[in-house]
Amino acid sequence: MQSYDVVIIGAGVVGASIARELARCKMRIALLEKEADVSFGASKANSGIIHAGFHSGPGTLKAKLAVQGNREFDRLAEELQFPFERRGEMVVAFSEEEIRILQGLYRQGRRNGVPYMEILGRERALEMEPHLNPDVQAALFAPTAGIIGPYEYCFALVENAVQNGVELLVGQEVRWIARVDSGGFRVETAAGAELAGRFVVNAGGLFADELASYVGITGFKIRPRKGEEYLLDRRVGHLVRRVIFPVPNEKSKGMLVIPTVAGTVMVGPTAEEVESREDVQTTRNGLQKVFEHAQRMVPAIRAADVITSFAGIRPAASGEDFIVGKTEVPGLINAAGIQSPGLTASPAIAARVREALLEEGLRLEMKKDFRPARRPFLKIREAVEARNFDAVRELIAGNPLYSRLVCRCENVTEAEIVEAIRRGHTTMDGIKFATRAGMGRCQGGFCTYRIMRILARETGIPYEKISKKGRGSELLAARLKPAPELEP
Ligand SMILES: Cc1cc2nc3c(=O)[nH]c(=O)nc-3n(C[C@H](O)[C@H](O)[C@H](O)COP(=O)(O)OP(=O)(O)OC[C@H]3O[C@@H](n4cnc5c(N)ncnc54)[C@H](O)[C@@H]3O)c2cc1C
Repeated sequence: MQSYDVVIIGAGVVGASIARELARCKMRIALLEKEADVSFGASKANSGIIHAGFHSGPGTLKAKLAVQGNREFDRLAEELQFPFERRGEMVVAFSEEEIRILQGLYRQGRRNGVPYMEILGRERALEMEPHLNPDVQAALFAPTAGIIGPYEYCFALVENAVQNGVELLVGQEVRWIARVDSGGFRVETAAGAELAGRFVVNAGGLFADELASYVGITGFKIRPRKGEEYLLDRRVGHLVRRVIFPVPNEKSKGMLVIPTVAGTVMVGPTAEEVESREDVQTTRNGLQKVFEHAQRMVPAIRAADVITSFAGIRPAASGEDFIVGKTEVPGLINAAGIQSPGLTASPAIAARVREALLEEGLRLEMKKDFRPARRPFLKIREAVEARNFDAVRELIAGNPLYSRLVCRCENVTEAEIVEAIRRGHTTMDGIKFATRAGMGRCQGGFCTYRIMRILARETGIPYEKISKKGRGSELLAARLKPAPELEP
């Protein structure tokens, strides 16, 4: 049995941020993930907004950690080289009643410590966002909000944590956590691995309540809340520069119009309490709702521009706030119930978990050789979009695989596919999220087979074992199964 100082369960943005934070110190850390790759939970299917922090009530952990987390992103993006832009967010009001809500949000933001907010009149709002509905009467503007590549952020955190000594174990679903009489825990996985951990951090997202229950913690339940999102063609990317919100309701921030770091526009998410923690289908009803709301704010948004859709499930906890810190079980730290704004708050959640571990008796001795910078992942798209052809020539001279285009919609070359595989992404979704190959207008129609060929060549994985997102999602399985009428 391998022994660790800290075993972190769950490699979404929360577990990944904690792993990287702890990797600054001298200790053995394991990061366990049940899926075939990291960031395959809520951290891959969200709106990608680094919120300013005015949406949550003062005094909640959500408010406090969002405002703190937001401040960290310039430094993090610089160190880890993931896409992040401080575009700002705008809440738009269309009536006197909505203006009153806007003013309440402004006051709430001030109490939460959100800087530089202002309430804009109609003319100024339209000047800044000319495609807004001209009926807009006022807008709350918070310039510190940003947009981010959420899975790129998570991949970067994990890569850097691993570079600094964290052991990442994917495909390891934790099935039991047992307290050990001599102190610490034994963590068992479905794949038969057993790990000893002096401390355990529960960052299990939608399954955090189940994980906590293994050691007798039953004080909270995860209430899955589904959110459907619709991605529009890059052609309409000019429609908004900032994230546009309606005035919020009790359960959610409402359905938004969101510019993405890839130059597309996203609309959504819905907010629907669901039973299943795994059903990520989008629905006709969701599509209708999202477009009704989005078009009220930006009338030029059209459903005909949708290139794809997805749904994510928020791991909301009963009580609605984040649950971060020590528990009644010494040595077990929760980072649970991390619904929105969890992406935004993730750096602050990690810092709070570090403090909790320190209070629980973990010795934190800083490493002298911690390397905060991630090895850059050079993408030809950025040079092409900037029309920097010298940079393109330089990339190709350094590695001729940069001249072989694999994904035409997103300008992804063979060099980038190979690099993603070498960084540990060995499923089609992992490669797609690491490179954007297959995310464009044709949604993989052109590049899927090319990527499979490269993946098989680089890893030796046989074609029939190549999967979308791990075991059970093999791409060729359907074709290789005998047709039902031929079965004996
Ligand atoms: C539609 C939608 C839009 C959102 N938009 C935003 C936004 O714009 N801004 C923002 O700040 N936040 C947003 N959020 C919230 C944000 O996505 C989440 O708060 C955040 O991703 C939660 O991260 P996590 O690491 O806690 O959970 P997850 O990413 O779900 O990670 C938990 C991990 O634990 C693993 N796991 C679970 N059980 C086990 C087990 N037994 N053994 C091993 N591993 C296990 C899972 O596979 C998963 O990878 C949004 C969420 C949704 C759904």
